[in-house]
Amino acid sequence: MAAGEVIATVSALAGIGSKLAEAMRTVRETKALTPAAVRAISEAQELVLSLQSRLFELQEKALALQEENRELRAKVSEEEAWALERQNYETKPIGQGAAIVPKGETHPLYCLNCFGVRRLAPLNKLPYSMPGPPTHACSRCRAVFNLR
Ligand SMILES: [Zn+2]
Repeated sequence: MAAGEVIATVSALAGIGSKLAEAMRTVRETKALTPAAVRAISEAQELVLSLQSRLFELQEKALALQEENRELRAKVSEEEAWALERQNYETKPIGQGAAIVPKGETHPLYCLNCFGVRRLAPLNKLPYSMPGPPTHACSRCRAVFNLR
């Protein structure tokens, strides 16, 4: 889309060039500013104004695209970092539930739900020893798990 507008702007620039050439030719031939030369110059001025306006729009679009590009690069970088990080962990079934643990380890325990949304949230053992579930709670999302 922006490329098409650049082409249109370049084409408008060519239009200005030809209008100015026409005005100069008329001035040279008549050695005076005829109504035709004044009209051609006036049309060239209008084209310059319209070109300035288009260039301003293009500049805004370029800035918006630059910002979008920066955001996308940050997201990709975040995704790549998480893809590397998640390789260090695995899901471990424990009792009636499961938790995330460092690969090959049994502790510490991390929340399965939060891991699914790219967060490493420690599970805290609940202070009371009630019979039955739950035994652990997530420090971030507050989900509870029965890990006995
Ligand atoms: Zn959680």
